[in-house]
Amino acid sequence: MSKPQLRIQRKEEEKPRNKTRKKKEKEKEDAAKRHATPYVLPSLEDLYVKPAAHLKKIVLKSNADSYLLHLIETAPVDEDKRRLTSTSHPSSGSFLSAPLVRNDLRIPSHSFIDSVRLRLGIKPINIEKLLPSDVCLCGKSHNWNNIGEILCCPKACGPEWNNRHDYVKNKLYLIAKSTGHAVGKEPVVGIGKNDRTDVVVYDYRDRDSKGEPDGPSFKLQIDVAVTSVDKQSDIKGPVLQGRAANMKAKSKMNSNGAKWIHEPDRFVPAIMDTYGLMHVDLRTILKSFADNQLDNSGKDFGFSFDVRDVLKGVIINGFYQLISVALVRGVTNNINNAALRILKHNNRAPAKPPIPRSRLEMMYHGAMRQEGSSFDFC
Ligand SMILES: [Zn+2]
Repeated sequence: MSKPQLRIQRKEEEKPRNKTRKKKEKEKEDAAKRHATPYVLPSLEDLYVKPAAHLKKIVLKSNADSYLLHLIETAPVDEDKRRLTSTSHPSSGSFLSAPLVRNDLRIPSHSFIDSVRLRLGIKPINIEKLLPSDVCLCGKSHNWNNIGEILCCPKACGPEWNNRHDYVKNKLYLIAKSTGHAVGKEPVVGIGKNDRTDVVVYDYRDRDSKGEPDGPSFKLQIDVAVTSVDKQSDIKGPVLQGRAANMKAKSKMNSNGAKWIHEPDRFVPAIMDTYGLMHVDLRTILKSFADNQLDNSGKDFGFSFDVRDVLKGVIINGFYQLISVALVRGVTNNINNAALRILKHNNRAPAKPPIPRSRLEMMYHGAMRQEGSSFDFC
């Protein structure tokens, strides 16, 4: 059985965008199923054929899922339900397990704290300073409890609006490059200079279920977007895991970038939501990058399929961490900049410390390097 490949969606092949009754019923059914089977106990067959680690995973996940279900059922508002379904996706919390010994996986302390607060439904530190009477630069008094609303306001986010998008885009580019692919950034794909995608992989190949290349290579045009689960236009539908990312992926398929791409090249959206959930297409790309890295690194070692599978899992986990950390840095950067901008707009800008934190960190690193130590307090 071949593995699901990247979707090739061309405009003419797409179904009408209006939601049919059948589709709505299917969504309801899926939601009902999710509630009916909060967790799955291992079957007898599993006990005989699955390794112990897999069984442990099933048991631990069952426990976590039953807690999650309880939290979702008792959540007072839909905003909390959306947060819980998004943060509970395996891809969204990768930054939490990122080792701090690597520079590219390091998160500034304040960003890490704010990200954990966001996951728990607590306002980031600087957003807590906003008063109900404060007015945004756009003239509105947003609901400061709804971070998605703040992140969607261009006036509040200001010139750094693209940070969360750009951090993820740059990381994806670097990952593709590090795995041996020929890559480019922001290629012009149409007749206007703004008809661009974010990253192009010139030698992308589909893979079969064993990770072996399947078919000739082609140009993969990747368009990155970071959407919010609390985006006003998307919150009217049911609370479903990954719904915001799916909707964004669909709209991307109708974007300028997509319409310029023709066979054999392909266009693919790489979507995350602000809580870190990765859309299935982005995860498929990362899996393929991991295979490419394995091909380049250990082709001659004669690894068995099982060993290769374990190695691939470790590599993918590393990619998830890199992307997750990039997103966390971008999102918290956006939130803090917006909060400070709004505070300033309301004449309550906090005083700057005599020595900024970034300068203190540089001073510290400098001192530790002189001592010949690699210890780091971040
Ligand atoms: Zn605003």
